Amino acid sequence: RAKDQGRNRYEYYTHELTLQVSQRFRLEGDLRHAIERRELYLVWQPQFSLASGELIGAECLLRWQHPEHGLVPPDEFIPLAEESDLILFIGDWVLCAAIAQMAGWQARVPSLKASINLSPRQLSAAGLSQRIRSLLEQYGVSPGRIQLELTESGLMESQAVNAWLGQEAASLGLLLSIDDFGTGYSSLSRLKTLPINQLKIDRSFVKDIPDDENDIAITRSIIGLARGLELEVVAEGVETAYQERFLREAGCDIAQGYYYSRPVSAAEFETRYLRSQKEE
Ligand code: C2E
Ligand code: MG
Ligand code: MG
Ligand code: MG
Repeated sequence: RAKDQGRNRYEYYTHELTLQVSQRFRLEGDLRHAIERRELYLVWQPQFSLASGELIGAECLLRWQHPEHGLVPPDEFIPLAEESDLILFIGDWVLCAAIAQMAGWQARVPSLKASINLSPRQLSAAGLSQRIRSLLEQYGVSPGRIQLELTESGLMESQAVNAWLGQEAASLGLLLSIDDFGTGYSSLSRLKTLPINQLKIDRSFVKDIPDDENDIAITRSIIGLARGLELEVVAEGVETAYQERFLREAGCDIAQGYYYSRPVSAAEFETRYLRSQKEE
């Protein structure tokens, strides 16, 4: 009987597995057409200075409205896209859409910055620098308005990423940020050699403040590290007034999170944040 059960279980698992593989396969096929079918769009999450409360910029986050499955979260489809060259097309679409959006916004808030997430594969592909340069020229956006975000784990991934960062990024005049900081394995000695201007404290450390003493200690040390290296430091995932006060007192520069706003459409971002800025 044990044997039967074992076999049933085995069959059950293989069935599950096949289903998952074919579902992923189908999702990838759909993703290939998502751009042309206009199913991708950007949402924007504002970032504020903790010292002054002033709007600093916004991070653009990709969304996929699938015709049958509804909204597919980026944590599901971006890893899928990263398994093939699909991420290059999607990443390019994001760069283009975000820079075009900034062209319209920069006149209204001259210091506004757009944070754009990049996948490490985009850095190792040929022509990224030239592409960014020509998009900035085409839309009349200065490179200092664009804060590129690379995850800490992505940064450590390959030589090509290192080369791009060392040679191209700085000469373009773009701002570079390490996203999800504290969750990867970057060596501290390498940190000071990278041409970055910003660290983003991962949400996993912020979310349990004040309950988790370890997270408090980790967050404080990341802020201390950033200040020591003269890097700007951003906390993501700020959800409560307590967390805001803690971060301000600990010396964090910028905050982003549901406490201020969820990511919103470009139109909503304009009415909520750019209009009020103009009237002030
Ligand atoms: P990320 O870059 O670390 O973005 C922050 C994520 O935290 C976003 O999730 C955002 O919606 C969420 N978030 C912000 N504040 C809060 C908060 O207060 N509470 C909670 N619970 N969540 C908060 P999202 O939009 O689902 O994106 C997930 C990840 O997908 C991003 O993490 C980023 O790594 C990736 N991603 C999103 N858009 C792009 C893109 O255009 N290109 C690439 N390569 N990756 C992207
Ligand atoms: Mg990010
Ligand atoms: Mg992050
Ligand atoms: Mg993250």
